[in-house]
Amino acid sequence: MTNLSERTTVLRVAGADAAALVDGVERDDVPVVAVGSTGVRALEPLVVATHEGASAFVTNADADAVVAAADALGDGALPDGADARVEHDETPDTLPVPSLDGFTDDRSVLARCGWTDPRDADDYASTVGFSDADADAVLDAAEGLCGRGWGDWCADEPYADLWAGVRERDGPTSVVVNAHGNPGDALLLESDPYAVLDGASAAVRAVDADYLYLYASEADAAALERARDAAEARDYGVPVEVVAGPDAYRAAEPTMAIEAIEGNHRLEARLRPPGPEVEGVYGNPTIVHTARTYARLAGVLRDEAPETRVVSVTGDVDATTTVELVETDTVASATAAAGVEDFTAACVGGKFGGITTDLDVGLAPDALHEADLGTEGTVEILGEDRCPVAFVGQRANVAAETNCGRCVPCREGTTQLTEKLRDVYDGTYDEGGMTELMGVMESTSICAFGRDVPRTVRTAMREFDDAFEAHAAGDCPSGTCAVGGTQ
Ligand code: SF4
Repeated sequence: MTNLSERTTVLRVAGADAAALVDGVERDDVPVVAVGSTGVRALEPLVVATHEGASAFVTNADADAVVAAADALGDGALPDGADARVEHDETPDTLPVPSLDGFTDDRSVLARCGWTDPRDADDYASTVGFSDADADAVLDAAEGLCGRGWGDWCADEPYADLWAGVRERDGPTSVVVNAHGNPGDALLLESDPYAVLDGASAAVRAVDADYLYLYASEADAAALERARDAAEARDYGVPVEVVAGPDAYRAAEPTMAIEAIEGNHRLEARLRPPGPEVEGVYGNPTIVHTARTYARLAGVLRDEAPETRVVSVTGDVDATTTVELVETDTVASATAAAGVEDFTAACVGGKFGGITTDLDVGLAPDALHEADLGTEGTVEILGEDRCPVAFVGQRANVAAETNCGRCVPCREGTTQLTEKLRDVYDGTYDEGGMTELMGVMESTSICAFGRDVPRTVRTAMREFDDAFEAHAAGDCPSGTCAVGGTQ
C-alpha cells in the first residue's frame, strides 16, 4: 500500500471511474492512487495533484488529463491548466479545500474523503490514528453528542445514557453502523471507512459489544466494497459483518436495518417499546447509529469537535453534492455551496422532508423542526420547471407503494392520501379531510416513515396553497400537469 500521509508528491484521482483512470498511468516514479469520492460528484473524476506544499485540482478529468498530471509531477511540477490550486503544509492530513462549488472550509467529518486512501488502514492510522480510548473515556466523550439521520435510533437525541444502559444489560450485544439511505453515510463508507470503523469500534468498547455490523444499501456498491475491505484489514476486537439491504428508503429505518441483518427478506418495522437497546439483533441489546454519528464520535475522540452538519444536495442538480457546514449556518448556505441558483422549491430533510421556498433556515435540528422541515441531512431541489403539487402526489404514491404494511395508519393512510391528491386533479381539494387524515398518520404510525409522509404534503399545501386551488380549478400554474384528469 502507498502510505499517502508521508508523501509530498502524490497524484490522487477521486470518483467512481478513478481506478480505471489510475490504471492508465504507466510511470512508477509518482504515487498515483484512486481515492474515494470527495462528495462533490459533479466535478469527478477529480484529479488532485500534490507537490511540495501545493495541490492543483483538475475537474472532470479524462485519461489524458490524468496521464498529463502524472507526467507533470514526475517532472517536479504541478499540471498546467488546473481549475483550482491550494497552498498548504507539505503533508496535510486532510483534503486542502479548493475554491470550487461543493467545497467548504468547514469540512471535518468529510475532511479525509477524497484524500486518504480508503483501502489503506495504515494511511488512516498514520494521519489521524485509531482511538484506543477505554469504555469510560468513550462514554465521557459521547456525553452530549446526538445521533444523526433518520436511520439513527437516537436521531437528534443524546445517546450516551442509552449506551451506558446497554453496557449493563445481559446478552450478546451488537453495534450496528447504518449507512443505508443517506448519501453522506454512503460517502463516508466509500471514502473514509476507517473513520467510521474508528468510531464504531470505540462504541464497541463503550457498550462492551460482541458483534459489529456494517449495513448499507445494495445500490451503494462502492460503500459495500470498501466496508468489506476495511472489515478484513484490521482486528476490531469483535467479529465484523457487512450486510447489504434492499434499496428501498424504508430499509434504513433502524429496526428494519436489524431485520435485514438477521436475514429477513420481508422487512417490517418492529413494534416499540422495547427498542433495539433492549431487543435488537437476534433479540439482544443493540445500538444503531448512522455512519455520520460514528465518524463524528471518532473526531471528538481526536479533539476535532466542531459542530457541523453534513448535507447532501440532490434532485434537480447535475449530481449529488455532499457539503459540510457548521450547524449555525443555513440550508441556503448548503445549496449555495453546492452551486444551486434557481429553483421552485426544496424538500428539506429526507424523502419525506418539508417543502419550502425559504432556505434561510438554520441547519441545527431545533431550527429545522421549528420550520417544519426534516433533519435527515438532505436537500432535494425541485427545478424551475417542476410542479410542487405533482411532486407531493408522486411522493405520496411512493409512500403508498413502499411502506412495509405493518401498521394501518401508514398502510391505509398513504393510500387514502394518494387518492385525495389525485382528486385534486379531478376538481376536489379536500383540505380539511387531508389534514385530519395526516394528523392520524403522524400521531399513530409505528415508525418515522409513516409519521414523516404527512410533513411533505402538509408543508406543500401551506407553501403552495394557491397551486392546489388552481389545480382543483383546472389549471397548473407551472404548465406541466394535465389537469381535469389524472396527472
Ligand atoms: S409507519 Fe409505515 S413503514 Fe413504519 S411500520 Fe407502519 S406501515 Fe411500516
